Amino acid sequence: MNLNFPFDPLERAEKVERLVMKDGKRLYYRFRAAPYYGGIATADAIGCSFLCAYCWNYFRNLNPARFNKFYSPQQVASNLLNIARKRSFNLFRITGSEPILGEASLEHLIEVLKIIFQEKPHSVFILETNGFFLGYRVDLIKKLIFKNLWIRISLKGVDENSFELVAGARGEFFQYPLIALKELEQQGMKAWPAVMRDLFTDEEIDQLGKLLGEYGIGARLEEEILEEYPFVTENMKKRNVKIK
Ligand code: SF4
Repeated sequence: MNLNFPFDPLERAEKVERLVMKDGKRLYYRFRAAPYYGGIATADAIGCSFLCAYCWNYFRNLNPARFNKFYSPQQVASNLLNIARKRSFNLFRITGSEPILGEASLEHLIEVLKIIFQEKPHSVFILETNGFFLGYRVDLIKKLIFKNLWIRISLKGVDENSFELVAGARGEFFQYPLIALKELEQQGMKAWPAVMRDLFTDEEIDQLGKLLGEYGIGARLEEEILEEYPFVTENMKKRNVKIK
């Protein structure tokens, strides 16, 4: 898939969604028990509207067309529930990708959530998202009102320039994840921002804290830790993204 930096993330999301969604099914490459959050049933999907320099799923997200294993919401939920049953987990997530690229992938996600919460009503699903599409289409947020859905929005920068450098998407789109967070809080939903701490100075993190305040976002900022796989270090070098 040809990609020139910086790109329009909306155009990219549309193209990628066409590649990773087919008749309500989505492209996944793995289901696993992961140690994060104390143990979580995890589905690894493919396809993102961004292409972050530090993404651990960089090459799959760069070129999703190489993959062809599509799963229905029933298959995804059933795989996750089996893992949870075997490992006595109460937490679920989809990762490695952007779960919400557009309306088709959102509908797929909602079906997965419905089945999981029907089968395990007291479990928690952690939605890891870059927040872009939810900020662009805030009218869709109400579709995600589930009692035990927690939404973690990974912010890619502290301003337009750092967002563009890290996410690869044009800086003018920086605001959308913040708009999503604001709306989620206004709807009374559990949501919080996260940021890759290693890429920013203390002053830049303070600057982001102030910006979150200006948007009226009260949730605590989670600090992510960079996983320095050799290909991540190499990609960051190529994209001129530095550890600070
Ligand atoms: S938003 Fe997440 S999945 Fe998408 S490219 Fe960035 S790190 Fe990877």
